[in-house]
Amino acid sequence: MIYIGCHLSVTDGYEAMGKTMSRFGGNTFAFFTRNPRGGKTKPIIPEDIDALRAHMKKEGFGPLVAHGSYTMNLCSANEATRANGLDMLTQDLVRMELLPGNFYNFHPGAHTGQGMETGISQIAEALNQVMKPDMQTTVLLETMAGKGSEVGGTFEELREIIDRVEYKDKIGVCFDTCHTWDAGYDIVNDLDSVLHHFDKVIGLSKLKAVHFNDSKNDRGSHKDRHEKLGRGFLGMEAMRRIALHPLLQGLPFVLETPNDDEGYMAEIHTVLDWF
Ligand code: FE
Ligand code: FE
Ligand code: ZN
Repeated sequence: MIYIGCHLSVTDGYEAMGKTMSRFGGNTFAFFTRNPRGGKTKPIIPEDIDALRAHMKKEGFGPLVAHGSYTMNLCSANEATRANGLDMLTQDLVRMELLPGNFYNFHPGAHTGQGMETGISQIAEALNQVMKPDMQTTVLLETMAGKGSEVGGTFEELREIIDRVEYKDKIGVCFDTCHTWDAGYDIVNDLDSVLHHFDKVIGLSKLKAVHFNDSKNDRGSHKDRHEKLGRGFLGMEAMRRIALHPLLQGLPFVLETPNDDEGYMAEIHTVLDWF
């Protein structure tokens, strides 16, 4: 089994997201901890969080996969951008503790010309400044497409970050199928080898969530443009094999496909029909 859901907007509150996901037929979801393009966050109402937690328990939800802002870059060459990223990360992780036991995923960053080694060390440094030994959130590094100066386009880069993080039991990886494919990993024809490689480099115990997307581009394109399930270069058969892969069972799968509500509902049902 897997948990399946999609990205939802926090506009109507937290319990509302849980209810929406139940209406969609899913049992996990992702949400941006703030405006995805940056900016102010809404205050959290504790009763609303409690109501979501009760709903998740009642409906057997899997862990949620919150998503950090796209504007957060912990390894920008620009010092102000870096400081702002650290601020966002700090606040996001404080908020996540209101929903203990869930995941906080973010894009590791883009080194913007500083070089991969500097990028990796700045990301790890930021995480070590903010992560606490008693936190109940697991921080996830997302596998990236390797676009521009992005860090995390290879499993080795993610491993390097993890190696330098102090609280290793609180860090993991979110496997984005579109990104991994765009980065060059052949998850269509050779999923077993890719997962074996992931295991060798990072360790499958660190694989905590999947972003379940098809891709508008061919393997190795380094583009990062998501497509609806079955409409892209991965294709429905490959998507199905991924969802059913024995090594990926029990994980939360989050759709980040270009869809409206009806589209998400249909994709959630497509996936559930495979089981
Ligand atoms: Fe992402
Ligand atoms: Fe993603
Ligand atoms: Zn993406």
